[in-house]
Amino acid sequence: MIDPNTIAFDIDGVLADIASCFIEIASKRYNIKGIGYNDITSYELENCLNIDIGIVEEIIGGILDGRDADDVKPIKGATEVLTRLANHSEQLLFVTARPDAAPVYDWMLNLLPVAPAMIEIIATGDFESKPEILLERNKTYFVEDRLDTCLHLEKVGITPLLFKQPWNREKHNFIEVKSWKELESMIKF
Ligand SMILES: [Mg+2]
Repeated sequence: MIDPNTIAFDIDGVLADIASCFIEIASKRYNIKGIGYNDITSYELENCLNIDIGIVEEIIGGILDGRDADDVKPIKGATEVLTRLANHSEQLLFVTARPDAAPVYDWMLNLLPVAPAMIEIIATGDFESKPEILLERNKTYFVEDRLDTCLHLEKVGITPLLFKQPWNREKHNFIEVKSWKELESMIKF
C-alpha cells in the first residue's frame, strides 16, 4: 500500500484527458473526423494518425498554452481520488514536462475543490528532469503514462505506476494502473 505523501503525478494522459480534447478540436475546428481514442497508439500523434504535423502542433499548442485549456476534461475518477488524497496528505505534487505550469494550474484550481496551497505543479520543460525533482521531494511513486519516462524513473529507484493508455501498449514490466479507481485501492488512506 502506498503512503499518500510518497506519491506524485504526471498531468497529461493521467489527470488531463488531452487526447479526447485533441480529437474534439481536430473534428470541430479542422473537420478531421473519425479519429478514435484507441487510434492514438503513439506518444507522437503524427506517427499514428493521418494528420499533418503542423495541425498537431497547433492543436496541442492551444491546449497547453491555455487558449483551449478550459476544454480539457479530467480523466474519469481523477477528481475524486485527488480530492481524497488532498485530505490525507500534506500537498499534491504534479510534475509535468510541459514548459509552463500557469495555464494548467488555473485549470486545476477550477477542477479540484481543495485549497490552492495544496496544489504544487512543477513544469520541467523536458521529460529527463522528472526523476531528480521527485527524488528531491522524497517521492517514491509516480503515476505516468509515458513508457520512456517510467524507465528513467525506475533507474533512480522511483516506482513508476504506468497509467494504461493506448499509446503505452509496448511490452513492459512496470506496475500498471488501469483507472483512478484502481489507483485509489492501492493507496493507504
Ligand atoms: Mg503524460
